[in-house]
Amino acid sequence: MFDTLSDRLTSVLKNLRGKGRLSDADIDATAREIRIALLEADVALPVVRSFIAGVKERAKSAEVSQALNPAQQVIKIVNEELVGILGGETRRLEYAKTPPTVIMLAGLQGSGKTTLAGKLARWLQGQGHTPMLVAADLQRPNAVNQLQVVGERAGVAVFAPEPGNGVGDPVDVSRRSIDEARRAQHDIVIVDTAGRLGIDQEMMQQAADIRDAVKPDETLFVVDAMIGQDAVSTAEAFRDGVGFSGVVLTKLDGDARGGAALSVRQVTGQPIMFASNGEKLEDFDVFHPDRMASRILG
Ligand code: GDP
Repeated sequence: MFDTLSDRLTSVLKNLRGKGRLSDADIDATAREIRIALLEADVALPVVRSFIAGVKERAKSAEVSQALNPAQQVIKIVNEELVGILGGETRRLEYAKTPPTVIMLAGLQGSGKTTLAGKLARWLQGQGHTPMLVAADLQRPNAVNQLQVVGERAGVAVFAPEPGNGVGDPVDVSRRSIDEARRAQHDIVIVDTAGRLGIDQEMMQQAADIRDAVKPDETLFVVDAMIGQDAVSTAEAFRDGVGFSGVVLTKLDGDARGGAALSVRQVTGQPIMFASNGEKLEDFDVFHPDRMASRILG
């Protein structure tokens, strides 16, 4: 996903390598090129601005002018600032002191929530947990069935409204799922909520009602990295409408420019915790800001 950005940044930084001392003009020119590369990759403007300001300030300081290899030092600074934008440290899941830990998933329809529910459950299982999936997306006719298929594939239990009971109330289903998790000794509950194709007040309210009913330990906002700049506005809408404690980037295997996804952390103030890069259950990992920065900077 970040190939073009990566190529651009690598070539900008490569131009520095031959130089001994760096003048302010060299640094300004480099900063300008990095700025263009980030904007072309769809990184949100405020994020680009603060990134460039940070790089410039540090690149013009004694940290660089007194360095043995100033170009190398600038590259290090760009790397560190990029890690910073992406959240710095890897943020781990917080587990409840008394199980079950409740993880609620929120995001637009098609963002990859249901797929992610299965991936996360499988990953948690690998860590020795006994997760249960909850079908609280009762909006889409096929959503319950889809979660059941995902659960089966991942080998985890799924709590869903009984068939023949009408569509059921997602808030009620979510609330009952916690009792069921206690009874059946699942230490983690993953609640898959309904999404719409666009931001929708009713959907936001339902997610907020589910949140109030299950009091999640983590609310993960799932966002498709392919949707470009809309990722930022969608994240802001979910932050204001439901609130979330972490972000999951999906479809990082796509060929979109991806910069918007790189902006979500800074714009919302919440960490990117997981990344999804394919349709298979194993195409999933904890998000490591430093590894992502290294990947982008080549
Ligand atoms: P939901 O509506 O948010 O529950 O989204 P789904 O989980 O149903 O995913 C929507 C579509 O995106 C499905 O066709 C998934 O197979 C696909 N999908 C989900 N995650 C990824 C991913 O990381 N990469 C790719 N390429 N496709 C994905």
